[in-house]
Amino acid sequence: MVPKEIAKRIYLVGGSGVSHPADCCVYLVDAGEELVLIDSGAGPGAGAILANVEALGLDSSRIGHLVATHCHIDHIGGISRIREASGCRVIAHRGDRDGIEVGDPRLTAADLYGIEYWPEKIDTVLEGDETAMKLGDLEFHFIAAPGHTPGSIAVYIDMEEGRVLFGQDVHGPFSDSWGSDIDRWRRSMEKLLDLEADLLCEGHAGVFRGGEVRGYIEAQLLRYSRA
Ligand SMILES: [Zn+2]
Ligand SMILES: [Zn+2]
Repeated sequence: MVPKEIAKRIYLVGGSGVSHPADCCVYLVDAGEELVLIDSGAGPGAGAILANVEALGLDSSRIGHLVATHCHIDHIGGISRIREASGCRVIAHRGDRDGIEVGDPRLTAADLYGIEYWPEKIDTVLEGDETAMKLGDLEFHFIAAPGHTPGSIAVYIDMEEGRVLFGQDVHGPFSDSWGSDIDRWRRSMEKLLDLEADLLCEGHAGVFRGGEVRGYIEAQLLRYSRA
């Protein structure tokens, strides 16, 4: 896979076949005066992510904000390199603060990946269930979606063409060592369904459009209802 535009102003710039095998899907939003990155990959692929942004004709030094959807290493390991290159500010939820700012290798799952993580500061710590914030010329809605980890968030933006949802690790998995809670996750998935998004950008599984969005989330709920 190559970096590509997946909708107007929305790009895929990282992922296991795009930047580095350990990376989550990394998405970029062109918010006008600034670029907003959703997640950062595991770290070793950060240079490739920045190069992918450039390859799409965008200036990586214009990344103004980086949203860390949760504290797993495959999503936060690239923060330091990307912050160094762009001076971006990091947004994450209080529920995953210990993973990101203290760097407990169990919480970050860095022990599983065998990747070292150096703690990173969060500039904007989200609290509560929902926060709306204007970044560039777009209104970003940050939705608490606990379950996979306590501080997991989803992000949506209403664009001209419809509602774009960065659902992130919708598919799980779950582990006590990260503080997963499958009942909370089910309620979070119901919240995501209620958003009726037109485009779902998932943390590893890629992009789903139209009716596939509901289909994908419901399939995950069904899969874990038997667990
Ligand atoms: Zn992940
Ligand atoms: Zn995860």
